[in-house]
Formats: sequence, structure tokens, C-alpha cells
Amino acid sequence: MFQLLSRLCNPLSLSPLGRVRLLGWILPPALLIALLALSELAVRAEFQSDRQTRLLAINQDLASLASLLTYELHAAQYFTLGLKAYLETNDGHVDEKALAPWLTELQERGAHIRNIALAPDNRISYIYPLEGNEAALGLYYPDVPAQWPGVKAVIETRQPKLIGPFQLRQGGLGLVYREAIFLHENQYWGVVSTAINADSLFAALLERAGRNGMSINIYDREQAQWLMGNDGVSGDLQEVIAIPVVGRQWDLVAGADMMQMPLRLTLVRWGGWLLALFSAYLLLQFIRSLSARMQANRALEDSQKRFKRVFSASPQAMALIENDALWLEVNPSFCALLGLQPDELQGKKIVDLFDSAEQERVLAAMQEIDNSFVINNAHFKQFEAHLASPVTDNLMGLVSLGICYRTAKKTHWTLQIIDISERIRLDNLKRDFVSMVSHELRTPLTSILGGLKLLASGSFSEFDENATKIINIALQNGERLSLLINDLLDMEKLVAGKMQFQLQEHNLVALLKQSLESIEPYAAEYQVRLVFDAPEKELRVKVDDSRLLQVVANLLSNAVKFSPPNAEVSLSIEVVNTQVKVIVCDQGEGIAPADQSKLFKRFSQVDSSSTRKKGGTGLGLAISKELIEMMEGSIGYQPAPGGGACFYFELTLVDEPNKDIASGEVGGVQRE
Ligand code: ADP
Repeated sequence: MFQLLSRLCNPLSLSPLGRVRLLGWILPPALLIALLALSELAVRAEFQSDRQTRLLAINQDLASLASLLTYELHAAQYFTLGLKAYLETNDGHVDEKALAPWLTELQERGAHIRNIALAPDNRISYIYPLEGNEAALGLYYPDVPAQWPGVKAVIETRQPKLIGPFQLRQGGLGLVYREAIFLHENQYWGVVSTAINADSLFAALLERAGRNGMSINIYDREQAQWLMGNDGVSGDLQEVIAIPVVGRQWDLVAGADMMQMPLRLTLVRWGGWLLALFSAYLLLQFIRSLSARMQANRALEDSQKRFKRVFSASPQAMALIENDALWLEVNPSFCALLGLQPDELQGKKIVDLFDSAEQERVLAAMQEIDNSFVINNAHFKQFEAHLASPVTDNLMGLVSLGICYRTAKKTHWTLQIIDISERIRLDNLKRDFVSMVSHELRTPLTSILGGLKLLASGSFSEFDENATKIINIALQNGERLSLLINDLLDMEKLVAGKMQFQLQEHNLVALLKQSLESIEPYAAEYQVRLVFDAPEKELRVKVDDSRLLQVVANLLSNAVKFSPPNAEVSLSIEVVNTQVKVIVCDQGEGIAPADQSKLFKRFSQVDSSSTRKKGGTGLGLAISKELIEMMEGSIGYQPAPGGGACFYFELTLVDEPNKDIASGEVGGVQRE
């Protein structure tokens, strides 16, 4: 943990991949927070600006309401002032006939003027319009305790005043503007008043305010009370405007609800969050893919380093060559094996590494590899060849050559060589030794066997039963030894390519009959019956007759040897087109599938213990295979249909196959 923290505190100590991973932890959340904050700030700024716009609108509405209110109040004031001027110029005389239409007209012009009243000596004697205001006519102020103190104050202070709202005698809520009239020499005349219909005025104000989503009220500062209902105003946003009223201090107050976040801004906010999340996600993905790529690159680099190490340290000579002559990679073992420096290889072709006698074979192998290369299915060939080295004579290599990669312009060859010079030298030594020992043994063994045969024939003297038995055992073992030596010599000749073959046309059927005859005594010894349903027609093959007889004898003797007493060994022939197949089947135990791969290999005995019992060298099948292949045929094993073993070999017929034979059963065996 401490190590992790100290590494995080010092990011420079981290590897590039570690730094990218650290950024992956830090950057996406940081971007997310920054973008969220930005979008929130933008939304709030926009909301604030919306609120300002709304406040402005409220202020404008409030100003227009204030002007409406002020207009009505001023109208009352001007009507009263007009009357005052009239009374003063007419010396307090009221010409009712002239005044009535004029005042009625005036009252009708004011939208909310209820009436205009004249109260000489404090009694309302004239009221316009009379209709609807009859109740107020004759009102004597001193008799109305609710009104008299206000009226008295106007008279005493000689200051006009707006009074109310209060319940008018003639009904309804009213605001009354009063002015005391004094004629010259300060002679008190009475009171003139204009009543405003407060109900309709307030209703009009409220209706207009409501239309704009506002609530309004008038606050009387003097009396510290609301005039349009007691509840003040509602809403979080409040604006106030002072109303100039004679003798009063009024504020028109407007209230409106706090604006809710509009849908547009809510959508912008959500959009901002989504954008922030998406951007952070994209950044995270980008950093992840970057770190994955870096990790992959690092893994690739590691694997390349590992491969390079293995390549360089390998004791096996390895090289990678482009287009036959551009040596891309060679390992030290390669240079050491061939005794060349890497720069000495440049310009050399692959084929130049081989002994001149081998070059044609190598070119043919390369051509074959080239032809059989299919993308993603590289083809390799392995062969033993003499190498040309400036420092080592007789350098033999087990060569693996192949194409591992190819484009339209490039072909990458891989070349691996194992030095088998020592193995070949030892093989040759062993072969020479076996050959020498076999040769040296054969001559004395021949004379020993001759002697033993003479003794066994009884030509010289009669031996007792025990001595005869011993002589016969010695003779049998001597013959087995002779067989082994002959097999060893044959094998050695075959491997060294020194075996002589005299290929000539022969009748295969005749050869098979001859072989059967020669094996007959051996079969009788094992109480085995030999069966051959020979075809009548000739089957001509080009073979070395003695070598072919050797192969057939080996197969027949094995079949007899591994058969139980009273069993049958069958020899049959099948012809298919130009191929003839000779099959030897027995009724023995056969060969287990797991052991079948051991057949035809030198010194290989499937079950050594049982074979020991039966005797044998383990070379017969290997020699037969070599011999048949030298005669351009093939040899193999197949299980017998009813148990037991079937060995066969195939040869090519010289002539066109005889129609009679090709179309029917041959030698008692059904054609394939
Ligand atoms: P050997 O001289 O030992 O018989 P071969 O090369 O002829 O040598 O045969 C190799 C081995 O193959 C034998 O030892 C035996 O185990 C097995 N084999 C050959 N022929 C038969 C057969 N007809 N039935 C069973 N096993 C056989």
C-alpha cells in the first residue's frame, strides 16, 4: 500500500504503461466533474438571466400599475382643486344649475370616481352624481365620529388629505380626497371632497396584476398596514414602488413566485450531464484501449526478446532468409557450424551453403516447398546433406528447410541445421564393424556348419543318441547364426547402396510357386498347411528373382512361424489395373494395433519374448521392405479378416493386365 502511494506521489517513477493507467484513474473522473460543473454553471447563468428578465418584466408591470393608481388618485385631487378654485372665485356661492352638469360630466370621466361632494359648514349639501349616493346627502361630519377627526384635521391643518379606504355611508369601500375651503380673510366655507370607488379601483389593479402572474397590495407606511387585504403579497420575488399620495406615504408592492427552472434549461442540464458522462466514458475507453495497446506492445516486445534470446542461445543452427539471399537473422550456432561470419553470409544464396554435389537436390527441395506452400500452412522439408564449410571437411547436416511467411514480394525461408557429422561417422564405424565381423565370422561358420552337417549325416561314424542330439542342436544354432550374419550383411549392403539388383521380367506366379515349394518342409515342421490358389495366366513383373524369392520366403516363414499347429497359411494375388498385390495371411495371433508401427524397422521384434521363443533376427521385414522398394514396389501390413496377420507387397505389372484375371477372382481372393 505504502509502495503504491509513494509511486502515485512520484508518477515519474512509473513505467509508461503505469502512467497511462494512472491517467485512466484520474482523467475520466476529473473530466466528468469539470464538465458537470461547467454545464451546471452555464445552466445557472442562463437561469439567472431568465430571472433578471422576469424581474424586469415585473418592474415594468408594477410601474404601469402604479401609474394607473396614481392617475386615479390625481384625478380626485384635480377635481377637488378645480372645485376649490370655483368656490373661491364665486365667493363661496354655489350655482347648482351650472355646477351639476359640469361635475356630473367630470365624475363620469374618472374611471373610478364615485362622487364629488360639497359640504358647506361641514354638511354635505351637494353630491354629484346624486344617484346611488343619496345616503350621503345631508351628512353632517361632526355627527360621524368615524369621519369627523379626519375632516377636522384637514380643516385645522388646511392641508388636503386622502382618507381611507373606509366604508362609505352610501355603501362600498371608498378613498376620499378632502380639502378645506377658506374664502378671503380666512373665512372658513366648508369641505369639498372627491370619493374614489376603492372596490373597483383595487379590483382593476388586482385583475391587471393577476394577468401578469403577480399579486399586489398597497402598504400604508404611516399606519403600517396593508390596504388591499391583510395578507400582503405572495411570492418569492418582490418589488416595491412608492406612490405619491397627498398626505400619505404609500408603497405599491408586487409579488411573484420564484421562477421554476424552465424545461429548456432542465433539458440542457440533463444534456450536459449526459455529455459529461459520455465524454468521460469515451476518455476512459480511449485510455483503456491505449493501455491495452501498450500492454500488447509490451507483451510483443517481451515475446520478441524471449524469442531472440532462445534464437541466439539455441545450440541448433537457425537462420531466417528473405527471398533466398537476404539473411535477416542468423544465430551464433549457425555461424559457428558453417565457420562463417554473419557478414560473409550476405550475398550467398541458400543453395551456396551446400556441397556442390548436393545443390541440385537442395534446389529441387526448395522448388517443391515453394510449390506446395499455402498461406497459413507452411511447408517444411527435412533431409540430410553435405554442407560446404570453409573450416570443416565432410560436414553433414540434418537440414529443415521451409517457408514460414510469404507476400507478393517477399518469401521468408527458415533454415535449421543439426550437425550430424559425428552421428554419420559413428554409423559408418558401426556399419564397418558389423560388416567386418560378419565377413570374418561367415567363413569359419561355413566350415563349422559343413563339419557339423557331415557329422550329423553319420558318414564318418555312428554317435550315440546324446551325441547326435548335441550335434543337431549345434547345427541348428549354427544355421541361425548363419541366417543372422546373412541378414546383417544384406542390411549393410542395402544401407550402403551396394546391393546388386538384376531386374528382369519374370512370371510372378511361377516365382511364388517356387517359393512355396522351398518353404514346404519348414511348414511341415510346424504342422502348417500352405494354400495357394494360383491363377493360370502369367503375371509379369520386373524384379530380381532371387531377391523377390527372399521377400516371399521371409513373409511365408514368418506366417508359418507365428501360426498354431494345424493352421493354414494362404498365399493370394489381387490385380487392380496395373498393380499386383501378393498377400500372405496366417491364423496366428496377429499384431496389436499399438505394435503395428514397429513393423519394418530394423531389429524390431513386436513381442521380444515370444519372438525369442520362435527365433528370428528382427531384420527380415526391414530387409524385405528395402528390397521391395528397390524393385519399385511397396510393402505393408493389414489385419487378417478372421484374426491373424496379413502381410502384402505390391508391384507394377509389366504388361497390360490380363482381362480374365483383372475381372475375376485371383488366387481365391476377392478383388478390391
Ligand atoms: P524375425 O526374424 O524376428 O521374424 P522380422 O523382421 O521378420 O524378424 O519380423 C519382425 C517381428 O514382426 C517378429 O519378431 C514378430 O514379432 C513380428 N511378426 C512378423 N511376422 C509376423 C506374423 N506373421 N505374425 C505375428 N507376428 C509377426
